[in-house]
Amino acid sequence: MPIVDISPLDKNELIANRRWLHQNPELKFQEHKSSKFIVEKLVGLGYQVQTNIAQTGVVAVINTNRPGPTLMLRADMDALPVKEENSTNYISNNTGVMHACGHDGHMAMLLSTAKQLAQIAPQLSGTLKLVFQPGEEGGNGALRMIEQGVLESPKVDAAFGIHLWNGLPVGQVGVINGPVMASVDEFYITVKGRGGHGAMPHQTVDAILAACHIVTALQTIVSRNVNPLDSAVVTIGSFHAGEAFNVIAEQAYLRGTVRTFSRELYDQIPDIFHRVATNTAAALGAECTIKYERLGPPTINDPVMADFVRQIASEVVGKENIISDDRARTMAGEDMAYFLAKVPGCFFFVGSQNESRGLIHPHHSPFFDFDEEALPIGVEIFKRITTRFLENGGKQA
Ligand SMILES: [Zn+2]
Ligand SMILES: [Zn+2]
Repeated sequence: MPIVDISPLDKNELIANRRWLHQNPELKFQEHKSSKFIVEKLVGLGYQVQTNIAQTGVVAVINTNRPGPTLMLRADMDALPVKEENSTNYISNNTGVMHACGHDGHMAMLLSTAKQLAQIAPQLSGTLKLVFQPGEEGGNGALRMIEQGVLESPKVDAAFGIHLWNGLPVGQVGVINGPVMASVDEFYITVKGRGGHGAMPHQTVDAILAACHIVTALQTIVSRNVNPLDSAVVTIGSFHAGEAFNVIAEQAYLRGTVRTFSRELYDQIPDIFHRVATNTAAALGAECTIKYERLGPPTINDPVMADFVRQIASEVVGKENIISDDRARTMAGEDMAYFLAKVPGCFFFVGSQNESRGLIHPHHSPFFDFDEEALPIGVEIFKRITTRFLENGGKQA
């Protein structure tokens, strides 16, 4: 049993907050109701609150008036364009929008943490900054908050964030040193050939054939350019070309994603990608234009901060329930990466799956739901991170 210090009243409130947020999901940068809900609670707890950061973001600060480091805890706020298929009594009231990633739980945990910490703040040294971030799901809300100065005044010394995780059973906590989630790049390739009669290929440059070779050649990035001990993914998710059986297509359109785990590969892959695609097209007499967009770097934990979280989490759930292998790593992306690229910290997984209760569906599924017993565990770890960090001026970390 995890060691969690929360009163029954506070636990009820934590779950009620989560369910209210679950019933009122909002898409990225439209989190107005959620933002208002959060602000009202934080103001009531005595926090100094800044609102409308990166549109709907909220930052709450408690300065203990004693010198010490500044610690940041972060929760993301947005839901997904998914139609909920669950039949609980707290399903989404906003049809077609659903908290299918667990961000409702993240907000509720941070609110509960805020409440408990407000009571013990006078015993701490330094500053606590609570960040409620909009637009995580493909919105780069973290980057926009950084651009608006969220890591400054006072300057943040360390940042921590939780993702509830249905890949781990409730009661386990995943903590990884180094890369924990992958970068996300998105690309569009337009292959231009010369269209013509399907029976007269010698008069044409076949855009479909060139695009097929590009698809194949792009797979050599991972198989022939990436160190087998490192990880990357190249996926072409969309291929459109041609209209008629007897016409050689003039153009073909490819779209896909690249994921990397290490900072080195993140820096190297765009050049390799351009070289392979452009020269493969040229070899077949075609041309290609590439739009290559960076949606976020890999999420990389500072090893010292990860050890710090591992120590604290093992006090809460027991050492045997700390997972530090591939069960707690994924090639999905997460924009907490932007914060961790600027300040040391750790993004970790709090297990929320419960097979016996049927809470097994993956994140982003219309059937996604999680075991709410995970929530007090997350709160306890956040609370202990803060007290430990602001007790000794961050020195233990
Ligand atoms: Zn998600
Ligand atoms: Zn998420």
